[in-house]
Amino acid sequence: DDFTRCRLSQQKERTLGIIKPDACGKVGQILDAIFQSGFKITKLKMCQLTRNEAFEFYQEHQGKTFFDGLISFMTSGPIVAFELMGVDAINKWREVIGPTDSCEARKGAPVSLRARFGKDNQQNACHGSDSLASAAREIEFFFPSVAAVRQNTAKLCECTCCV
Ligand code: UDP
Repeated sequence: DDFTRCRLSQQKERTLGIIKPDACGKVGQILDAIFQSGFKITKLKMCQLTRNEAFEFYQEHQGKTFFDGLISFMTSGPIVAFELMGVDAINKWREVIGPTDSCEARKGAPVSLRARFGKDNQQNACHGSDSLASAAREIEFFFPSVAAVRQNTAKLCECTCCV
């Protein structure tokens, strides 16, 4: 019924966002935009990915032509990873960051973060999880649950900022 639909549609979701190495000088402006868009930032950290970590994070893209370039780019400097919470957060954050290619983003909705802060279809300023399943995996990747840390199965432990 309407009441149930309304309640379901108001359910909060969590998603994983990243400010990529090319946009780390714009952290202030990007966090400001996140706040203005109504998200809660429930976790956040700055770190620099190792190649192994970047490989694992982007495993679905292994074998693609842009994979090697993507790994080099994502390990080239610090990143800021964060968990966002809000109604329909996964789709909403994808809308705020805009299309993958920053050049395309500037033609379409010039207010998106990739339009404002990205350069091209590789150096595109921000990442956002694209589904419930990837959000769960990616949040666990950057912010391992206490259980995973206790069992020593947490993956993100080689990172230079965390040791
Ligand atoms: N990427 C790239 N070249 C391409 C397509 C993508 O370097 O032709 C990079 C870009 O940084 C992108 C990431 O790979 O954000 C992941 O690609 P995906 O298709 O999943 O785009 P997204 O979900 O990030 O918009």
